[in-house]
Amino acid sequence: MSSIKHNSLSCDIAIVGGGIAGLWLLNRLVSSGYNAILFEQNALGSDQTIASQGMIHGGIKYTLSGALTGASEAIADMPAHWQACMEGNGNVNLKGATTLSNHFYMWSSNRVLSKMTTFLASKATRGRITKVRKNERPEIFQHNEFKGSLYKLVDMVLDVPSVVKALADNCRDRIFKIDWNRTQWHHYSDKQSNNDVALDFLYDGQDYRLNAGQFVLTAGQGNEAILQELGVESTKMQRRPLQQVMVKHHYPHRFYGHCLGAETTPRLTISSHPCDDTSQVWYLGGSLAEKGAELSSDEVIAGAKKELKELMPWIDLSKAQWATLPVDRAEPRQLNFARPDKAFASTIKECPNVIVAWPTKLTLCPNLADEVIKILEKQKITASSDSVPDLHFLSTPPLALTPWQTAFGD
Ligand SMILES: Cc1cc2nc3c(=O)[nH]c(=O)nc-3n(C[C@H](O)[C@H](O)[C@H](O)COP(=O)(O)OP(=O)(O)OC[C@H]3O[C@@H](n4cnc5c(N)ncnc54)[C@H](O)[C@@H]3O)c2cc1C
Repeated sequence: MSSIKHNSLSCDIAIVGGGIAGLWLLNRLVSSGYNAILFEQNALGSDQTIASQGMIHGGIKYTLSGALTGASEAIADMPAHWQACMEGNGNVNLKGATTLSNHFYMWSSNRVLSKMTTFLASKATRGRITKVRKNERPEIFQHNEFKGSLYKLVDMVLDVPSVVKALADNCRDRIFKIDWNRTQWHHYSDKQSNNDVALDFLYDGQDYRLNAGQFVLTAGQGNEAILQELGVESTKMQRRPLQQVMVKHHYPHRFYGHCLGAETTPRLTISSHPCDDTSQVWYLGGSLAEKGAELSSDEVIAGAKKELKELMPWIDLSKAQWATLPVDRAEPRQLNFARPDKAFASTIKECPNVIVAWPTKLTLCPNLADEVIKILEKQKITASSDSVPDLHFLSTPPLALTPWQTAFGD
């Protein structure tokens, strides 16, 4: 290997993984003057990002036990941050992206919500949550058969494919498709290089070596395989498996909300997504999807039908099409499999020029970028004025299809 003469390429930061975390970080780094590029192996937004429900929440749903937890404190400011970006006034420009809703609802039986009344009215919720009076309920809850209480959260829901597109459009010339059959990590072994790594490419009989001040791994569940390949033991990943349900129908009302049950995870979460024809998809998550991860697709669909019949018996979904999406959430490994309460970014002990990062929530991507930039500043990796390395031999990855485009073919 050492006798090969490589074409030498370099950049300040090379990001591996083009989901929301990598794309957001790329935008932040480029606007801070870094010579940053991103590699995606499949389509931009694949895996968790395109599978997400697009809810940018301030953490209220994590306070269902009635106390503010670390999780809710870390993300409390995120909706305002995203809102500024959507308006073109934030540190990332999302002006081209679409907001599906400026609020979402929480509803439940009065029995469940009565235990939380004091909390819901307390300062802790910082005016982000209000009780909805009967005459102000959305159409879907105007029905006489609805007996519970309804609260409105000011947090928003974004059209995730449009967010991915906006982030990618801002930095098109810096995003490359990586083919790992022709690419491999190179470990420097000399003392001077401090165990750093580089990326070696072999294309059209030419060898290229890309050196980066820092590689940042934002490959979601793909981080696990990369860490293995790099021989890293110090940082591990955990998966939280889900099986989401998709209901495609012509029922006209869009709805975004959590139904609270007896547990801390919402019993059911519904988000509505427009399809290319005039129909829409209700995308169902929450406890239904968590418990459904172990079940067959038919069993989860049967469970979803039962839940909807019980919670909204007045809605006729008999002509709807149904499908499921098994998908894992990828997170840094925690003691007792706990849910991480903020974005994770850390340098890898074994390879000092590699940072591994998981946002753990779409909402927390701004937090992840801040954490990575803090590490770069600490490492004194400054922005160079160099131009983008010549990676002409790599193509541009497409945007990921939505789960409903894949499932229902529209
Ligand atoms: C069903 C579901 C619903 C969710 N809903 C919400 C929500 O409403 N609100 C919220 O805040 N969060 C939500 N989340 C969490 C959120 O989606 C994730 O935290 C976030 O999308 C993770 O983004 P990411 O960029 O780290 O990873 P991913 O979105 O998984 O992206 C990883 C990218 O890396 C690429 N990749 C993988 N391996 C490699 C490799 N070796 N080389 C190059 N590229 C590679 C993949 O192709 C992919 O494009 C949800 C998650 C799920 C699963």
